[in-house]
Amino acid sequence: MSWYRKDNPDVIPGNPERIGKWDPIQYLDVTKYLKPFNEYPKDFNPRVHGAYLPYMYYGKAETPFSQLKIKEIPGWFSRRNKTPMDAYQLGLRSKPFQLRNMKVLIVGSGITGAIVSYLLRQHYAKRIQLIVYDKGRDIGGRMSTSRSLFDSNCFCDTGAQYLTMSNHSPAKKYFQQLIDAKIIKVLDATNVIGMHQREDKQDYVVSDGISTIVRYYFDQAEMDNIFNSKTINEINVNENNIQIHGELVDDECDALFLTIPVTQILQLKGKIAKIIENDSQLKINLEKVQYSSRFSVSLFYDESIQTLNIPWHIKYIDNDDCLRYVSVDNLKRKKYSPPFSLIAQTSVQFGAKHAENDKEVIGKQVLKHLFDLFPELPKPTETKFHKWRYSQITQPYSGKPGYLILNEKPLLLLTGDGFAESNFEACVEAATKAVDRFYPSPEAIEIAIKATEEQHFLQRNEDEHESAGEDDGEGTDWHWEYF
Ligand SMILES: Cc1cc2nc3c(=O)[nH]c(=O)nc-3n(C[C@H](O)[C@H](O)[C@H](O)COP(=O)(O)OP(=O)(O)OC[C@H]3O[C@@H](n4cnc5c(N)ncnc54)[C@H](O)[C@@H]3O)c2cc1C
Repeated sequence: MSWYRKDNPDVIPGNPERIGKWDPIQYLDVTKYLKPFNEYPKDFNPRVHGAYLPYMYYGKAETPFSQLKIKEIPGWFSRRNKTPMDAYQLGLRSKPFQLRNMKVLIVGSGITGAIVSYLLRQHYAKRIQLIVYDKGRDIGGRMSTSRSLFDSNCFCDTGAQYLTMSNHSPAKKYFQQLIDAKIIKVLDATNVIGMHQREDKQDYVVSDGISTIVRYYFDQAEMDNIFNSKTINEINVNENNIQIHGELVDDECDALFLTIPVTQILQLKGKIAKIIENDSQLKINLEKVQYSSRFSVSLFYDESIQTLNIPWHIKYIDNDDCLRYVSVDNLKRKKYSPPFSLIAQTSVQFGAKHAENDKEVIGKQVLKHLFDLFPELPKPTETKFHKWRYSQITQPYSGKPGYLILNEKPLLLLTGDGFAESNFEACVEAATKAVDRFYPSPEAIEIAIKATEEQHFLQRNEDEHESAGEDDGEGTDWHWEYF
């Protein structure tokens, strides 16, 4: 039937245009009507399982009915849960419902994880569960903002300092979105010393700290859950799902986006390690990915300090054996009144030399060096030290593909700056490519349809007299098969 061709956008499962038109049941939140019976299953433990998902089975794995011996059948039935809620959950676990409630986990709550989540939510609306895990105490990753313990209005960007938009930026619409939402503004370069000015680029600062942009995209994604302080150290894959494990973490999903630095991917245990081990070229390529290391020192001042006695807002320091960058962070963000804050970052060479050392020991050394260079600085009320063991990419994954697939079904995908470059634009591009691989954008559909047509045209020419079959749209790598 030609209406049912795969290249008819009206029948593409997951096409947001069609939501509600052909698939109204996806909006029916049956749990609402079953409230009186809606109790958590006895095996569900929020500390272990995280978010409660009605379609998930939390009990001990049972032998499938088809594999039972006759004498085991009565016992099997006696162990079944029989409340209305259990029946409902059993229904939800059946194939059609599972497909509509696909659960996607994102490991890593940095900017790549945030954009992946944002794009997935845009494509799938509420028919997808989106859950993120991160070992950090807050979201942001290397786009992190550190606040004074005594005054939350006093803060510093400890990792990324600003967003740079190139003339032909693949992330132009994101920059516009952030400008319109009054989250970013143009960097005032007049008080910046030693920066390499580039006419084809524009730098932006983030008014409320750089982690705000990560939060903005997670907010837009309406995440079902964000779990911080959860380190994932094992990932397993079987033909039905992907399981993640860590201290107090045990979860499973239909697809996983892993956005952590490549070096940390190589430290993971379980089936993921075997997949990498069994593909020697893949392993070599992953091991080649390199990051620099840096230390950051944040200085926070109380309201009584009216100036830091230095004439610039940002200074790049050349030929110093320790420091590379110093910024009066509130002035960088065009906030000229107290509280003042200052951030100092070390050079790549210094970071490499001390990469394995303790951040407190090295932090004190860096602080002393800062006051040797700028003795006019007033004493801060508070200091914080940070080690970026994996700071910026010095050697990306070969060819900068943006993402890498470790397992096709269920999908286990690696992305992040390790597969691109260390900046906002590149992370947006990597995340977009990764999500396109999962769900084709209208442009990708267009290209795929054209490619199919061309392929069939060539095929028809070649086989002119051999085949009279109808073009059925087969032969292209369609990715909406996940739904
Ligand atoms: C000092 C510094 C200065 C920089 N300057 C700029 C700049 O000015 N402009 C710019 O655009 N970019 C800059 N960058 C680079 C930019 O910050 C990164 O490229 C970008 O933030 C990477 O984002 P990501 O989401 O790919 O990775 P990340 O932000 O690193 O996110 C990965 C997340 O994974 C988590 N994680 C890791 N392992 C595990 C695990 N086992 N279990 C659970 N969670 C885990 C981490 O906690 C982290 O939150 C700078 C970076 C640094 C460090």
